[in-house]
Amino acid sequence: MQKKIRIAILGSTGSIGESTLKIISKKKDRFIIDTLVAHTNYSKIKKQIRIFKPKNFIVTNFKIYKKLKSKNYKHTNMHNSAINFNLKKKLDITVSAVPGINGLPITLNFIKFTKKLLLANKEAIICGWEILNKFLKRYKTNLIPIDSEHFSIQELLKENEKDNIDKIYITASGGPFFQKKIKNNIKPKQALNHPKWNMGKKISIDSATMMNKVFELIEARKLFPKYKKKIQILIHPQSLVHAIINYKNGLSKFIYHEPNMIIPISNAILNNDVEIRNFIKLNENFSNDVNLKFYKISRKNFPPNDILGKINKFNSLPIIINGANEVFVELFLKKKIKFSSIIPNIIKVLKNKNFKKYAIQSATNINKIYDIDQWSRKTAIKIADAK
Ligand code: NDP
Ligand code: MG
Repeated sequence: MQKKIRIAILGSTGSIGESTLKIISKKKDRFIIDTLVAHTNYSKIKKQIRIFKPKNFIVTNFKIYKKLKSKNYKHTNMHNSAINFNLKKKLDITVSAVPGINGLPITLNFIKFTKKLLLANKEAIICGWEILNKFLKRYKTNLIPIDSEHFSIQELLKENEKDNIDKIYITASGGPFFQKKIKNNIKPKQALNHPKWNMGKKISIDSATMMNKVFELIEARKLFPKYKKKIQILIHPQSLVHAIINYKNGLSKFIYHEPNMIIPISNAILNNDVEIRNFIKLNENFSNDVNLKFYKISRKNFPPNDILGKINKFNSLPIIINGANEVFVELFLKKKIKFSSIIPNIIKVLKNKNFKKYAIQSATNINKIYDIDQWSRKTAIKIADAK
């Protein structure tokens, strides 16, 4: 009999978390759900306790935690802190999918007691890669990025032609407004309506502004530093090709799959030993849709183009754009600022007189990261209030 896979999911009530649970529920006998982590979604947490009976559930929102703790579940121990949580026996897999910089300290803690980390939380990579990488080495934890583009690059790099690489492309869908004139009165509902992917709110807005691809370029350059200068973005509205490698010998290889996160997540969990039809219904027309379209990015079709030009200039610029972006996305979702002001506002943060002082710092520990992040958030709030 195969050894059961002990797994933890950070962000179990979210889009990536639920996709992971969907995979697990189709292969129940292969998994032990050790720990789930969620924040505020009371009814989903209750449902997940009932259905999956995890050994531990960490609920980071104190009110919700207290409400659930009082229920005295038999099979599930309730905890409140994901940062101080500890396990004696190493987990086989942790899926990290708490969005934003909030996911960073939780992920760092779980690296300590996990053999394999499936990392979706790109903000953790962007803001804390140096520390994350140190932790991965210290605790001998294997990393598999599951952001689809990065998962694809990692797959392509398994092939033995690494010195022959000319360029690596990550693709961008373009989001709901690609090649459309962005109106002044875009509502959150419209911006959340992604044409190809079904995702959480924050990443959906990032896809609509295309900041998501700026973050993913930074993510790719951190994960694959050997090819830093060779990685670029291509717009591909069909979201079928996720990464392309052009080789010096004139050949190109790419990874092509339906835009469904179950594909990279299940392959990462099960070491590519996957019969995908067990998990999802494949699109019957999939193999006919071969009229692939790609567009170069430009100032015209890629709104954050000006930000892109700055990303390699300062060590801590990623932390600053991430912090400011998190603030502006939240304000837009609360209808406090306009969609069309998100990117101009981020650029204003980069033009602030104190920007350079923070951007040139090297963020070698978590407190330094928080310092820079806090400066960026405060500056972003002042900019939004000035309206
Ligand atoms: P969702 O918003 O759908 O889910 C977020 C999850 O994190 C929920 O379970 C939420 O709990 C939990 N959470 C939020 N804040 C906290 C916190 N402070 N402490 C503990 N748990 C918290 O996000 P997604 O699943 O869409 O995205 C997760 C990450 O994966 C993001 O970094 C995103 O960029 C990345 N990613 C996502 C993709 C996708 O297809 N969705 C694709 C590629 C990358 P609750 O709901 O209970 O409040
Ligand atoms: Mg992606």
